[in-house]
Amino acid sequence: MEFFPILPLKMSGQLSRQCTHSKGDEVADNSNLDKLLKKYDRPGPRYTSYPMVPVWKSDFGHEEYVRALENSSKKPDEPLSIYLHIPFCRQRCWFCGCNTTTLKKEGTHNSYLDIVDKELNLAADLLSKRRRVSQFHWGGGTPSCLSNENTVKAFEIFSRKFKIADNAEVSIELDPRITDEERIQLLKSLGFNRLSFGVQDFNADIQTAIGRNQDEKKTVELYRYCRDEGFQGINFDLIYGLPKQTLGLFKDTVRKTIDLGPDRIALYNFAYLPDSKPHQRLIRSEDLPSPSEKIELFLTAREMFLESGYKLIGMDHFVLPEDELAIAQSEGRLRRNFMGYTVKASEDWLGFGMSSISYVDNSFAQNLSTLDLYQKKIEEGSFAVYRGMRLSEDDIIRQYLIADLMCNFKIDITELENKFKITFNKYFGDTLEALKIFQDDGLLIEEADAYTLTDMGKIFIRNIAMAFDSYLKGNDLKVQFSRTV
Ligand code: SF4
Repeated sequence: MEFFPILPLKMSGQLSRQCTHSKGDEVADNSNLDKLLKKYDRPGPRYTSYPMVPVWKSDFGHEEYVRALENSSKKPDEPLSIYLHIPFCRQRCWFCGCNTTTLKKEGTHNSYLDIVDKELNLAADLLSKRRRVSQFHWGGGTPSCLSNENTVKAFEIFSRKFKIADNAEVSIELDPRITDEERIQLLKSLGFNRLSFGVQDFNADIQTAIGRNQDEKKTVELYRYCRDEGFQGINFDLIYGLPKQTLGLFKDTVRKTIDLGPDRIALYNFAYLPDSKPHQRLIRSEDLPSPSEKIELFLTAREMFLESGYKLIGMDHFVLPEDELAIAQSEGRLRRNFMGYTVKASEDWLGFGMSSISYVDNSFAQNLSTLDLYQKKIEEGSFAVYRGMRLSEDDIIRQYLIADLMCNFKIDITELENKFKITFNKYFGDTLEALKIFQDDGLLIEEADAYTLTDMGKIFIRNIAMAFDSYLKGNDLKVQFSRTV
């Protein structure tokens, strides 16, 4: 169980891994790594949002969200990002932490889309003329669960009310087990241009241990078909720390992934939380790698991706150098929101569907997380927001800093001072000592007008972000976080 406040990592032994064949400048010099892992590996937020979700408030609801949308409508020419949550799966994979159900009937999916349509109409009325969309993402659950008819219906619900820009990023998460070529053709005709494949691990024994049997041949054939159809920006989700995952087996998965060459790879850390996610009890805890083995899985995969030419984005995403995310990062314009890393993020993003999250007019808002409650609220003519938060000026400054750190590996002092009219050393005076320690540990370099992460610092990026998180200071948050490394 992982709770904040911080607990030191109990290492079961020295890591055997050493970097013996470093080529690229992004492969970390890890001679000091064991020491730093002992010092820094601890539970902490992932910073997909700042402030983090556990500090959002239950008194942020329908009225507050309406006000945020009304304010947002005052910028009619600004684009929007939209997320659609499809909370359905064919069956529950034992490792999965997503908010989903296993309701399979087409009628249920159809009625759900009718409710989403109602929610969309509520929002569209308040947004008035603000309707241009630069980023449209479908996630879940798995949107692959929908029939072709419901896929078209879901798309049309949105395209009737919003103008999806010609150059918009239109992306979808796919379960390769239940996605066929006909579906890919349909997605292409609708305008989807980014696909994300749930892969997790190619090994059949590991798949059995997580209740997700996924034929490797089918995944590879579907991937090749998508390539032949001209899709760019294809992502593979991989997970390290799964039951029965050994270094040798995971290296096979990483090698196969590199050989296939998806444009993007998200390498997620498996968080085993059987108390809050009871379905994870189907996983035998004795099959899980130890904490030190898990770190070795991550660092080895990281090194293999970097050595094969992938560029590091954030802590655990890898992209081909010619991918637009890598180019955006080198130009300092990479952005991140709940949908992932992007170059098309707008200031405001709207989530639709059960449990979805919105960020509008500097306010977070999250929908109810069960189908019945979400549906009931929308049918009553109200938004289904059950928690959220309006950000203070201080939150916005820290949010900007942490986002820049996570996306572009730096803290741009001049930009922060100019944008927010602050003096960095004064404003963050209580953090300077921590920054000095990060520098002494070789994680940060202080330059004239910026702090830049070293290659080693990129491994501990969440720890550095935590130093700027005002909600972690002096708070006894009883929250389960994944480990920072
Ligand atoms: S991993 Fe994907 S398909 Fe499996 S339960 Fe989670 S969302 Fe559903």
